[in-house]
Amino acid sequence: MRLDFYLSHVTDLARKASKIAASKGRVTVNGEVVKKANHPVVETDVICLDDMRLAWPSEGYYLLHKPAGYICANQDAEHPTVLELLPSHLGQSLNIVGRLDKDTTGLLLLTTDGQWLHRITSPRNKCNKRYRMLLAEAISDDALKQLEEGVMLNGEAQPTLPAVVERIAEGEIYLTIQEGKYHQVKRMLAAVGNKVETLHRDQIGPLSLDGELAAGEFRELTEEEVAYF
Ligand code: URA
Repeated sequence: MRLDFYLSHVTDLARKASKIAASKGRVTVNGEVVKKANHPVVETDVICLDDMRLAWPSEGYYLLHKPAGYICANQDAEHPTVLELLPSHLGQSLNIVGRLDKDTTGLLLLTTDGQWLHRITSPRNKCNKRYRMLLAEAISDDALKQLEEGVMLNGEAQPTLPAVVERIAEGEIYLTIQEGKYHQVKRMLAAVGNKVETLHRDQIGPLSLDGELAAGEFRELTEEEVAYF
């Protein structure tokens, strides 16, 4: 990886500050001062900042309680992004595991580990994601059955895969799906003539957002939790 990218992963320096630190001669690689930010570094290199040896970054796995109003993107000119809820040196190195809409709240995973991300998001792996929602209209038993069996979404060639639905109240349900198409839950409810008013994801596989984190808070996953996927 590039030196500035590496430095921004393992120190508190953001990408720009990493470039400046290198250009000022503060960084050595295998005993040689390296001033070029794009210098490639590998795990076996001895890399020092101000004579302090730096470690090779380990993979990171985090769970965030996404608040409404934040978007799932690396950068956005208009809105705050979920990565801004994490310290900058972490946020810059993490990938978002499956996106939630700006107005959706709830469980969001972030990781540096591309294979782990793929295991959760790939439809082949059939990972359950559970959403709790308030609906504009009371929902009929027939609509619940249609959601369970699969509905045709606008612009798609195949119906959605079978889902699990649990009624909470007349206009409030849990919906568990294994896919992650664009706006899938909102489009599924539109397909049965209803409208999602508020949407919250509370489970991904065996992981749940159990009230320990307030909206906007995050924590690292345990080794056991990482191994779920
Ligand atoms: N489905 C949606 O429609 N929106 C989300 O944020 C997540 C799933």
